Amino acid sequence: MMSKEIPYKIYLEESEMPKQWYNVRADMKNKPAPLLNPATLQPMGYEDLRPVFCDELIKQELDDTTPYIDIPQEILDFYKMYRPSPLVRAYCLEKKLDTPAKIYYKFEGNNTSGSHKLNSAIAQAYYAKKQGLKGVTTETGAGQWGTALSMACAYLDLDCKVYMVKCSYEQKPFRREVMRTYGASVTPSPSMTTEIGRKILAEHPGTSGSLGCAISEAVEAATHQEGYRYVLGSVLNQVLLHQTVIGLETKTALDKYGIVPDMIIGCAGGGSNLGGLISPFMGEKLRGEHDYRFIAVEPASCPSFTRGKFAYDFCDTGMVCPLAKMYTLGSGFIPSPNHAGGLRYHGMSSILSQLYHDGLMEAVAVEQTEVFAAAEMFARVEGILPAPESSHAIRVAIDEALKCKETGEEKTIVFGLTGTGYFDMYAYEKFNNGEMSDYIPTDEDLKPGFDGLPKFPGCE
Ligand SMILES: *Cc1c(COP(=O)(O)O)cnc(C)c1O
Repeated sequence: MMSKEIPYKIYLEESEMPKQWYNVRADMKNKPAPLLNPATLQPMGYEDLRPVFCDELIKQELDDTTPYIDIPQEILDFYKMYRPSPLVRAYCLEKKLDTPAKIYYKFEGNNTSGSHKLNSAIAQAYYAKKQGLKGVTTETGAGQWGTALSMACAYLDLDCKVYMVKCSYEQKPFRREVMRTYGASVTPSPSMTTEIGRKILAEHPGTSGSLGCAISEAVEAATHQEGYRYVLGSVLNQVLLHQTVIGLETKTALDKYGIVPDMIIGCAGGGSNLGGLISPFMGEKLRGEHDYRFIAVEPASCPSFTRGKFAYDFCDTGMVCPLAKMYTLGSGFIPSPNHAGGLRYHGMSSILSQLYHDGLMEAVAVEQTEVFAAAEMFARVEGILPAPESSHAIRVAIDEALKCKETGEEKTIVFGLTGTGYFDMYAYEKFNNGEMSDYIPTDEDLKPGFDGLPKFPGCE
């Protein structure tokens, strides 16, 4: 049968947008391991998590059985402001590569925050507002999550306090000012506004901060103020759930034209965009309806999947957060200073970790100069300036398309293009000047992180 001519962009009608998120845990035989209380080592239940997280979000976090969860109308209305996002046929990239492969990408950068993170930010802000809270606190590293959350909070008239890793606060003033433009208060972390911040500053005066430290401050700020809760932009089950809007739209768009992908590729920092993109397809694989290849792409300088351990670990450096079972490099792990491409978190979503552990998904690590070379080629032929994070997926999509050129196979490749890179021009500058280098940690480099993993009976 001749297939319909595939347009450059497959858009959906508003009426075709998903009205429910899909919870892939419902179809997993081996469920992701529960969060543990670091003091008692007991699984954290609803009541344990209430001081930190919003009530409805805790229910979503703990729900391993409900396959479809309704998206409230207010969130659907917000989604309509910047969704559905296009599924683009990368005709120009295919031509450039001279490959028989068919390449598609789902582009999530078409909103001011510039990434997929808005999909979960609006959901988390909505549930906080519905609970009658005054505001939310969070941390941000490079700033994409803080920006998305600021936009969502502005829309719902909710207070937003962002702890921004100090070196980013100083080096990325534009992101900081976007957040402030949307009404958020932005504090460089570590700061004197929290007990843990004061302690860290006393011990390490002049420190430029870290994500793990900013998390500890944001959690303290939420739990020590009436009417505030903490929210997080990745890693958690609830975030992955909200991000399934990406995969559900992708599936509907592909189905419209009878396209069946052979492989689905995404970059993995904490795993939320990749998990959201692959969930509906993974559901089919788990139910035995169809087989796909799923490929997680991570930086060789922060290789959680490919070289990490599957173990219970802390989510933050302050060790105040629950323990999660995941592929991890240890909460003390910090990528080498030359690392410029994002995706620097030490751990990984528990859901994706379990799927990977069960052999349902693959992972590859790529070096950053190769990533930026792919980003540049992509920008020149497809027009979009990709975020360095997204470019990890571009790299592997290109590599797979080049393999097809060798073998003559007409494989269909879908990858997630999570965002734009306008605020990453220092990294691009380094690459353009030929000053970017690769550093792959040695086993020796990784050892201290692993040695810092919590040890207790049954933790592995
Ligand atoms: C945050 C971010 C990522 C990585 O986060 P995940 O939770 O792994 O999806 C990837 N791309 C962009 C543009 C981001 O902002």
